[in-house]
Amino acid sequence: MIGNLTLISTDTNLIDGIVYKVKIGTKYYIGSTKMKLTIRANKHNNQIKNGSKSKFHTECINNNIFKVKCEEIYRGINYKDVENKLIIESLNDPNCLNMKAVISNKERRREQNNKKTDCKLCGKVMMKKNMNRHLRQIHNVSKFDFICEKVKV
Ligand SMILES: [Zn+2]
Repeated sequence: MIGNLTLISTDTNLIDGIVYKVKIGTKYYIGSTKMKLTIRANKHNNQIKNGSKSKFHTECINNNIFKVKCEEIYRGINYKDVENKLIIESLNDPNCLNMKAVISNKERRREQNNKKTDCKLCGKVMMKKNMNRHLRQIHNVSKFDFICEKVKV
C-alpha cells in the first residue's frame, strides 16, 4: 500500500484528471479521478466489498461484481467540467447509475458565499461574501476580532 502511495505522489504525468466510465451490463457509472485508474477501481472495489449503499455500488453487489474496471473516456485539466456535462446529460437515462451531478469545490464555495446572512452586530441582511467588508467598514472589526469577541461572550 505504501508503495502505491509513493507512486501517486511522484507520478508527474498525472497532472490532468481523468473522466472514466464503469460498465455494468447495459448500465454505467461516470466518475473522475486524478489517480491511476487501477487505483481508483480498487477504491470502488473496497467500497463494494464494504456494502456501500450508493446506486452504482448496489448495482455491482446485485450482479455479484466485486472487481470493476474504470475505462478512460477523457483526460484533461477541465476534466471536472467534462464529467459534469456527461452526468447531467445522462441523469434521465435509466441506465445511468449516477445519482447526481458533482459540484466542484469552487462552485460549492460560490453557492455558500451567495447565501444571505445577517450581521450579528447590526442585523443587516447581506450575502455572506460581503460580510467581511461590512464588518471591517461599518463596525471597524475584522472577522477574526469578531470570532474572538464571540468566544469571550
Ligand atoms: Zn452590521
